[in-house]
Amino acid sequence: MNILIFGPNGSGKGTQGAIVQKKYNISHIESGVIFRENIKGGTELGAKAKEYIDRGELVPDEITIPMILDRLQQNDCKNGWLLDGFPRNPRQGIALKKALDEAGIKLDYVIEIVLDREIAKNRIMGRRLCVNDNNHPNNIYIDAIKPDEKDGGFVCRVCGGSLTARADDQDEGAINKRHNIYYDSEKGTLAAVEFFKKTAAEGSGTKIIELDGKPGVKEVSEELMAKLS
Ligand code: AMP
Repeated sequence: MNILIFGPNGSGKGTQGAIVQKKYNISHIESGVIFRENIKGGTELGAKAKEYIDRGELVPDEITIPMILDRLQQNDCKNGWLLDGFPRNPRQGIALKKALDEAGIKLDYVIEIVLDREIAKNRIMGRRLCVNDNNHPNNIYIDAIKPDEKDGGFVCRVCGGSLTARADDQDEGAINKRHNIYYDSEKGTLAAVEFFKKTAAEGSGTKIIELDGKPGVKEVSEELMAKLS
């Protein structure tokens, strides 16, 4: 099974992607992770990509497109893949479609997690980390996982531990920059989503799954599983 997953930062895309990857035992390919690994490994590709990533800009298509197309040809992708973070614009979408068509590879599903920009931003800024356990979810803007209040502040809803916030989750400028790219329906990621919806309407055979990202992780994943099977 070959799947693309779209959703703005803060929509729970990473969480849902991990659930799908596990259930179908397919490779989870994340463009951002590949870049970060290359930067860490000191590769030429990493050096080229770093300056763009540090500025919160997209790495040029000339670097990103061949990198992803190469990655999809590796052995661990033979059983299927879930591609996350690519395509981020129509040019990348068109290049992917062309490469898949030429290789005779079917794109089975496109998943789109739909979430209002303001809610997505709040979710990122509301995320809190428990000092005792990274897997204790707390978010001051999500009722289902809202931390407990104590002495005028918040503590972990699971264990009562102290909470901290990730610095990059509190950087409104950086969040806005990434959302500007995602929500741009002319040249950005939403335009790439539109491209795949159009090819589906024209009979590409790809099924489009639109999910409302507002409910909790469990509700969203239940809806996703029902629509995938
Ligand atoms: P992510 O982890 O998906 O948020 O990606 C981190 C950074 O990697 C992005 O802010 C971009 O600079 C770069 N990046 C990831 N995917 C792409 C892509 N498809 N096209 C261009 N740049 C990308």
